[in-house]
Amino acid sequence: MKRNIWVVAHHQITEIKPVTFELLDMANRLAEQIDANVNTLLLGTSVASLSSQLIGLCDHVYIFEDPLLEEYHYETYQQIFIKMAEKYRPDILLVSSILRGTDCFPRLAAHFNAHYVAGCLDLSYDPSTKLLTYHKAVYEGRAILEGTFKLDRMAVIMTRPHVFTPSKEKRHKETKVSILEISLSPIEFLTRRVSSIKTVHISLGEALVVVAGGRGMQGAGGFKLLWELARRLHGAVGATKAAVDAGWCEHRFQIGQTGSLISPEIYIACGISGSIHHLAGIQGAKTVIAINEDPNAPIFKRSDYGIVGNVFEVIPELIQEIDSL
Ligand SMILES: Cc1cc2nc3c(=O)[nH]c(=O)nc-3n(C[C@H](O)[C@H](O)[C@H](O)COP(=O)(O)OP(=O)(O)OC[C@H]3O[C@@H](n4cnc5c(N)ncnc54)[C@H](O)[C@@H]3O)c2cc1C
Repeated sequence: MKRNIWVVAHHQITEIKPVTFELLDMANRLAEQIDANVNTLLLGTSVASLSSQLIGLCDHVYIFEDPLLEEYHYETYQQIFIKMAEKYRPDILLVSSILRGTDCFPRLAAHFNAHYVAGCLDLSYDPSTKLLTYHKAVYEGRAILEGTFKLDRMAVIMTRPHVFTPSKEKRHKETKVSILEISLSPIEFLTRRVSSIKTVHISLGEALVVVAGGRGMQGAGGFKLLWELARRLHGAVGATKAAVDAGWCEHRFQIGQTGSLISPEIYIACGISGSIHHLAGIQGAKTVIAINEDPNAPIFKRSDYGIVGNVFEVIPELIQEIDSL
């Protein structure tokens, strides 16, 4: 019997987000190896029209719309995933760690006593041993853990964004689109949204370019320069714990061991020393550029390009240069 791989789609307004295409590419490669169908789950209040962007990329798109999904409550999502899993018996559920629901999937795995991998960097199958092998970063990224498991029960795999190539190769001649046939029961919410942040900025997890600042930016005023640079590069702004603790920006901007783990194409560290706690958050960054006035700052050891200089001179020059292009 064919196995089933399910991918949870990430979307925003009218767009399926690139991270979904990363997951689908991985799911399709794996499906060939383990002989599986690839299904995509599209959840939201009004998401049916987005299914057209998934045609050819999987065997089946399941849509579930409900006004309750307007706000994120893990209780609602938990219920959907449990009911979906009870009914459709996925062998592998693939989700991105940038999706809402990072609190939901470990619970889901525990509910089904499933295999669970967080921060997965890759996943492959060996037909001779019938084992799936995954890799994930551990000890603040200083080591890579290799783990294996048999598909003897469900596996919930949360992947790091930007680790896989987002491919839109149409490998499926036909893609069915159906409504996910489950019903939600009235829920006693344990969580309640007390406020929401409306932002036009690209989120740290998704950004391909991240411009981050540390104590060297010397204040909230210094961070304005970073926003200026990030805006020109269509990127996001991040910060060290030192900058967050000083109150120059909110904790949601913090990168590192106790902040976000990011994997952008380009990471620009401005006035950041490069502590292990901070570097733990940028293990997945492809190209690292550092600006620091101290030529011995540890950040330069992790950098592909280094500029020894004062951020208040270098960044305005960079901005000017970009503007002149
Ligand atoms: C348990 C634990 C968890 C932690 N988690 C995190 C975490 O998640 N994220 C995190 O970032 N930190 C974390 N930290 C803190 C971490 O250890 C460092 O203290 C912090 O990252 C340092 O931030 P910084 O680089 O901004 O500051 P500093 O280390 O003070 O470095 C500032 C740098 O700016 C340079 N500089 C100063 N002025 C200028 C200028 N005008 N132009 C150019 N360069 C200049 C200096 O040369 C220096 O290298 C954690 C610590 C602990 C103990």
